[in-house]
Amino acid sequence: MILPVTLYGDPILKKQAEEITSNFPDLSTFIKNMWQTMYAASGVGLAAPQVGMSIRVFVVDTVQLEEKRKNTFKGIKKVFINPTILAQTGEEWKYEEGCLSIPNIREDVFREPLVKIHYFDEQFNEFTEDYDDINARVIQHEYDHIEGILFTDKLKPLKKKLLIPKLNKIARGEVDVDYRVKVYKGK
Ligand code: ZN
Repeated sequence: MILPVTLYGDPILKKQAEEITSNFPDLSTFIKNMWQTMYAASGVGLAAPQVGMSIRVFVVDTVQLEEKRKNTFKGIKKVFINPTILAQTGEEWKYEEGCLSIPNIREDVFREPLVKIHYFDEQFNEFTEDYDDINARVIQHEYDHIEGILFTDKLKPLKKKLLIPKLNKIARGEVDVDYRVKVYKGK
């Protein structure tokens, strides 16, 4: 089932998400829905808060980018549950990021190129792995989501200030997108 994507302005996107246990109800259905939602929106990553669940789960599929990038690039398709980034190293590099929750805004974001991450997969097998290149980039972006951080939070203050009118429009639901979205109406 394709879920609506939470738009900028919803406080769930600013919240630190909670860890889950292996008996979290209907986890496999939820993850299946996350994949469907991500692909329907042509994304390469999606975090649970973006579909209205404040839990520490995100999915990444950078295999989709293999054709576009140099042929040494090897993408990943993985579910990350209860992840912890243990280290981010190397000289920061910039890349133009976008976000399904912040449609039609793309900005250069600086991040370290190497990431060491501890996480569990869908069967709660435990892993500690290293990623680089775009894999690290997408992992860092999605990890930020479960920490309540958006890529716009990482921009220089002036740049961010210039985006405020656009961000306010998104928060009001004035967006032109071809996927389902959910506008925060207050509680
Ligand atoms: Zn995002």
